[in-house]
Amino acid sequence: MVLLNFFSLLQLFDGHNGSAAAIYTKENLLNNVLNAIPTDLNTDEWVAALPRALVSGFVKTDKDFHKIGKKSGTTVTFVIIEGWVITVASVGDSLCIFDSANGGMYYLSADHRLDSNEEERERITTSGGDIGRLNAGCGTEIGPLRCWPGGLCLSRSIGDRDVGEFIVPVPYIKQIKMSTAGGRLIISSDGVWDALSAEAALDCCRGMPPEAAAAQIVKEALQANGLRDDTTCIVIDILPQEKPAAPSPPPKKPVKHLLMSLFRKKPSESFSYKDKEYMEPDVVEELFEEGSALLSERLNTKYPVCNMFKLFMCAVCQIEMKPGEGISVHAGTSSLVKVCPWDGPFLCSSCQEKKEAMEGKRPSGND
Ligand SMILES: [Zn+2]
Repeated sequence: MVLLNFFSLLQLFDGHNGSAAAIYTKENLLNNVLNAIPTDLNTDEWVAALPRALVSGFVKTDKDFHKIGKKSGTTVTFVIIEGWVITVASVGDSLCIFDSANGGMYYLSADHRLDSNEEERERITTSGGDIGRLNAGCGTEIGPLRCWPGGLCLSRSIGDRDVGEFIVPVPYIKQIKMSTAGGRLIISSDGVWDALSAEAALDCCRGMPPEAAAAQIVKEALQANGLRDDTTCIVIDILPQEKPAAPSPPPKKPVKHLLMSLFRKKPSESFSYKDKEYMEPDVVEELFEEGSALLSERLNTKYPVCNMFKLFMCAVCQIEMKPGEGISVHAGTSSLVKVCPWDGPFLCSSCQEKKEAMEGKRPSGND
C-alpha cells in the first residue's frame, strides 16, 4: 500500500446493547473529525491538527448520538494513515498494534477496561460513578469490574446514554511516524486479546499475506478461548514504495532513495514539527500521545497548529457563535490556574454542558 496526498481510514467498532451506536458512529465520526480541521492546511499541518480534531469529532458524535435517545454503545478504534504517519484514536478495549518491519512493536491504543485501568476507575468514582463486580448473592462477587448504574465494563465509549456521562467519548490518541521499512498493523476486538498476547498474534501469522494473517489470528484466538466474545481482526501491511505487493516476508531494508519523492517539500512557518519534516524516517518516531479525559487538556492551544480554532466557532460542534457567547474550555477546570474569559478555545453553551456532565459537575442526560 503506497499512500500519497490522501489518507487511508480503518475503523473497528465493537457495539454493546444493540448496534445503533456502532452504526451511527460509522456513519458520522469521520465527517465530524474532518469538519474540525481547518480547510487551508498543508499535509503536515493537517496531520498535526488531527489529534485535536479527533477529540472534537468523538465528543460531537457522542453528543449527537445521545440526542437520538437510543441506549446502545460502542468501542471505537479509528486509524488514519497519511503518508508515513499513523494516527490512532481509541475508546474502549479493542487493540491496535504496529509491528515495524525493521524491529519494534508499538501499542497504538489504550485499554479502557475498568479492570485494567486504575486511573480511569479513579476518574469515574470522583465524577460520581460507582464501581464494583456483580454480586451473585451471599457476598460472592463475579465477573469483571463494572460501572454503576448501567453495569458497563468500560470507562470510555461512544453512546451508553443510560450509563452516565462520566463514561466519556474522549479518545486516547497516539501518532507515530513509521520507518521507511513500513510494517504490519493489527486491529482487533477484545475477543482476540483475551486469548492472545500481541506478540503471540504477530508470531502466529508471520510471513502470511494480510487476509490469511487476520484469519489465522482469529483461528488461534478461537482455539485458545472458544467462541466467547466478538473476535474481529484487521491486518494491514504498509510496504515501501516500488516494492512488488508480495508481503511475505516483510522487507528488512528500507529503500531510501525511492522514497524521497513521498515527502512534501513545502515548509510551513507555523508548524513546530518543522525540523522533523525533512528527516528520513529510518526509525519509528513517536510524534504524539495523549489520553487525558479532560477537554481542557485535550483542546488546548499549545499544540502545533495554534490558529486551529476559529474565535467564534465552538471547538467541539463547530457551530458559529456570537462574539462573547463562547465559554472558555478552561473555565472552571482548576482554581489554581487563572483563566481569563478570553482564553480560547471556546465552547458553545450546549458543549459546555456536555463538558461539565463528562466531568461529573452536572447530572447527565439533561439535554
Ligand atoms: Zn458546541
